[in-house]
Amino acid sequence: MITFDDLQSLKAALGYDANPKLILGGGSNILFTKDFEGTVLKNEIKGISIVETTENQVIVEVGAGEIWHSFVQYCISQNWGGVENLSLIPGTCGAAPIQNIGAYGVELKDILASVTCYSTETKESNDS
Ligand SMILES: Cc1cc2nc3c(=O)[nH]c(=O)nc-3n(C[C@H](O)[C@H](O)[C@H](O)COP(=O)(O)OP(=O)(O)OC[C@H]3O[C@@H](n4cnc5c(N)ncnc54)[C@H](O)[C@@H]3O)c2cc1C
Repeated sequence: MITFDDLQSLKAALGYDANPKLILGGGSNILFTKDFEGTVLKNEIKGISIVETTENQVIVEVGAGEIWHSFVQYCISQNWGGVENLSLIPGTCGAAPIQNIGAYGVELKDILASVTCYSTETKESNDS
C-alpha cells in the first residue's frame, strides 16, 4: 500500500510496479473478502481553498483526500450553504463524485462545478 498526497507522488506510485492498482479513499464503501493482489494507492491529497467568490456563490477547491464530513463542517462554519444536507456521509471528497453521493433531496451533482482528474491508464490530466 502506498499513500500519495499530490500528483507527483501519485505518478511515482503508479510507476512503482506493474501490479494492478486500487485507488482507496476512506475505505467506507469497500469490503475486502480476500487480499488484494496488487498495490493499494491511498489518497491523501489535502487542502481547501477558495477559487472564486461572487455575489451569490463561492467556488471552493478541495483535495480528494479530505474527509467529506469535515469539508461539510468547514463550509457550514463559513456560512456557505449547499452541502449541509450531505453531512455525515462517510468517506473522502475524492470518492464523492465517483458515486454522486446524495441525501435528503440533494445530490453532489447539484453543487459540483468540476473535477480535476488524472487517468491512471492514459497518464493524462484534464488540468494540464
Ligand atoms: C454508514 C454509511 C452511511 C452512508 N450514507 C450514505 C448516504 O447517505 N449517501 C450516499 O450517497 N452514500 C452513503 N454512503 C456511501 C459512502 O459514504 C460513499 O460510498 C463514500 O463516498 C465512499 O467514500 P470513501 O472515500 O470511503 O471511498 P472508498 O470506499 O475508499 O472507495 C469507493 C470507490 O470509489 C473509488 N475511489 C475512491 N476515491 C477515489 C478517487 N479519488 N478517484 C477515483 N476513484 C476513487 C474506489 O476505488 C472505490 O471503487 C454511506 C456509507 C456508509 C458506510
